[in-house]
Amino acid sequence: MINFIPEEKVQEILERVSIEQIVSRYVSLKQQGKNLVAICPFHSEDTPSFNVNPTKGLFYCFGCGAGGNVFTFIMKAENYTFVEAAEFLASQAGILLEDNKLIKKVDKEKNSLIEINSLAQKFFNYMLIDSTKGEKALEYLKKRGVSNEIIAEFGLGYSLDEWDSLSKFMTKRKVSVSDLEKVGLISPRQGNASGYYDRFRGRIIFPIYNLNGLVIGFGGRIIDDSIKGPKYLNSPETKIFQKSKLLYGMNLARDEIRRKDLVILVEGYMDVIATHQNGVKNTVASLGTAFTAEQAKILKRYTDNVVIAYDADEAGQEASLRGLSVLNENGCKVNILTLPEKSDPDDYIRKYGAEGFMDCVKNKAIPLIEYKLKIASQKNRLDTIEGKKKVLDFIINDLTKVNSLVEREYYIRLISNKIGVTEQVIAAEMGKHSRSLQNIGTNRDKKVIVRNNSKEKYLMGNSAQVKVERFLVRYVMENPQNIEWFQENVGVHSLQYSKSKLLIRDLIKYVEDSGGSDKFCFKNFLITLPEDLQGYLSEIMTVDTETYSINDCVYIIKNNWYKLQVENLKKEISAAEESEQKDIVDSLVSNLVEFQRDWKQIKS
Ligand SMILES: [Zn+2]
Repeated sequence: MINFIPEEKVQEILERVSIEQIVSRYVSLKQQGKNLVAICPFHSEDTPSFNVNPTKGLFYCFGCGAGGNVFTFIMKAENYTFVEAAEFLASQAGILLEDNKLIKKVDKEKNSLIEINSLAQKFFNYMLIDSTKGEKALEYLKKRGVSNEIIAEFGLGYSLDEWDSLSKFMTKRKVSVSDLEKVGLISPRQGNASGYYDRFRGRIIFPIYNLNGLVIGFGGRIIDDSIKGPKYLNSPETKIFQKSKLLYGMNLARDEIRRKDLVILVEGYMDVIATHQNGVKNTVASLGTAFTAEQAKILKRYTDNVVIAYDADEAGQEASLRGLSVLNENGCKVNILTLPEKSDPDDYIRKYGAEGFMDCVKNKAIPLIEYKLKIASQKNRLDTIEGKKKVLDFIINDLTKVNSLVEREYYIRLISNKIGVTEQVIAAEMGKHSRSLQNIGTNRDKKVIVRNNSKEKYLMGNSAQVKVERFLVRYVMENPQNIEWFQENVGVHSLQYSKSKLLIRDLIKYVEDSGGSDKFCFKNFLITLPEDLQGYLSEIMTVDTETYSINDCVYIIKNNWYKLQVENLKKEISAAEESEQKDIVDSLVSNLVEFQRDWKQIKS
């Protein structure tokens, strides 16, 4: 999306629009030190924790962690996409976006394709509701409990079982054949035959809307399952329809998703329709393709909490796992719901109502690791060593990513009980796994020796680590030419706080992509980040003021990193000793000696 607004326009908007003016339309701001404060518009509170720093053009809320610049603010406050926010802010500042010819041309073509779709939607809808030819389709929907209101709300329709009824209707209204093909409503005849035929024939039609409620594509389902051909058929990818970037039902569900702070992800059109009809309106569906990062980002605009309620069959399980990892990587909290009796959400909610369905969402949805354990245990023989190993391999990476020690302990016990391997061995495997990941980055560090005398000033505890990491983030943001220095002397891997890690990793990539640090623009970088990182970065840039000596920072970070490695190694060694794995003990001990020697070097 960002590509549609040229960078210099974004720059111009940021220079001309004042954040305090925009924000003050939503809340009343009071001066407090160098910042302005207010009651946060994004969460409910009694004492103001929402800060605006006009000089830097940033806002940050201590209560809910929301933060960013004026783009972030307006996107959050109005549910705008980036382009919509740019249009709105540009109009506020009297900046013309229209004089960008690219936008104009693309928009004009897109608009005409959307108009064709909207005309087709009316045609399909008429055939379902008002034509005798659509009786069978209407009967099918009624039998599945779909009401007239829902048919209207979702704009459902029926495509006649004829080769050219839509084409005829459209050409009478002066729509060109080439536009109909561009929007995917007709296909050229196969082989030597000339001419076209309607893509959707004899199908219930589910119009697919974008967030603004405009028809961008269609899905069609056959009524009679005995008829050959695919059960579901979608519009092909077009200029306005990209399956990987949209979610079915999002236009109707987004307010409810935000209100409930939860989205339920289902598999099919009918699942969305049945749940909405029964009053569960925070459901959306991905359209039969693998769940994508773009889709995760759409969801993240409204909530971090996702329940996946796909079908209980094998394909549904695999889709759940794929969706899970994508959502997880994008910072969502994901639980998986497997409905009883092998039902899909459509069947289940029609049988047990909203209450029964929501009861399952609340009580039967389980987190990632439990779900993976369940699946892997079904697929492998747990009475064989090979089977136990496979289960553990399948989970270990996710397990090492769990930050909370309490959760970790819970899972380790759960796995231990399930597969019959001691908790110590699982912990040792985890250590081995995370070290094999960290070692990728250590060679570079071994060359670096930092000497300084003032290091004793600082506590070596976690609070120093956090402060120093935050300072380093600020240091490279304010002086992006230091990124190379950072990579040489510190390295992303030796940071311990995951948000600092992600932030610097994104910064490095951003600078590489935009052709060097001299072209770096902080404000433009900020809006490319996911919401939680925008918040974290805005917090650092608006709140932090302390400065530290860079040598001290490097020392503290390196020292803590070695300390952690050595502690982990010692734990692994004692676990390996307990389970009498002599080979492993030997190799761990030689690792330990090496680490301790390197550690000593930075201390001297
Ligand atoms: Zn807040």
